[in-house]
Amino acid sequence: MVVERFAPSPTGFLHLGHGFSALTAHGGAIAQNGRFLLRIEDIDTERSKPEFEAAIYEDLRWLGLKWEEPALRQSERMDFYDEALNRLVNMELCYPCSCTRRDIAEALSAPQEGAAQQFGPDGVIYPRTCCARSMTHRTDADAVRLDMRKAVAMLGERADAGYIEIGENAGFHPLSDEYLVECCGDIVLARRDIGTSYHLAVVVDDGAQGITHVTRGSDMAPATPIHVLLQNLLSLPTPLYRHHRLIRDDTGKRLAKRHDALALRTLRDAGWTPEDIRAAVTP
Ligand code: GLU
Repeated sequence: MVVERFAPSPTGFLHLGHGFSALTAHGGAIAQNGRFLLRIEDIDTERSKPEFEAAIYEDLRWLGLKWEEPALRQSERMDFYDEALNRLVNMELCYPCSCTRRDIAEALSAPQEGAAQQFGPDGVIYPRTCCARSMTHRTDADAVRLDMRKAVAMLGERADAGYIEIGENAGFHPLSDEYLVECCGDIVLARRDIGTSYHLAVVVDDGAQGITHVTRGSDMAPATPIHVLLQNLLSLPTPLYRHHRLIRDDTGKRLAKRHDALALRTLRDAGWTPEDIRAAVTP
């Protein structure tokens, strides 16, 4: 049974790109007599707003989409993220980190570091300042990071680990130790303010919801090896992935949520119909 999901964060209004993801995931589920689930990714309580969550439901209904009620809300699932974090801690793959953004910038600009700054899916690659610290000394001011070197070493024998991409970039993508260590680095599993992270929560929930197909924009593709690694470490199945092209505005800029001109509700107010939205995102 195909299980697709749409997983928006209520930190802004849905735009045409979200419409594309939601319609594609929903269409994939319907075509296979499968299930379509909605997940509200609201772990960032500072940036998530009830009015944006209400707008998500309204916009998706207007588009004609139906999902299984109730939608899963990540803010209600912190215990599950804690449990997954504890498993990774018990596997001795984690360390606490007290570095601020400024500490990281300073460490990276120190002359002895030499090399140019590297950027990964979460921004600059963390210079491992805190990597020798023990979890037993974690304080409330610490985030928790995954020691990527240890994580890939633990997965070492699993040469078959990777994921299958369907759709535009179809093929098998094996996990690359080099990509994970050099281009992702020691990612944050639990932020000090919210106790979890996007990567951990998305993996735990895709597993808990039995998601078989993840449909999302190609801007998420660089983070997918991180998710597949975490699925392997947590003994969760790896879904199929479909990273679709990004919808760009007339100037070629990727749509950000701040860019309200192509928000679904702005288009609706300007007289677009759901059929016009479908036509606009169909190649
Ligand atoms: N919550 C993420 C977003 O709104 C999408 C996560 C995902 O589909 O995996 O950008």
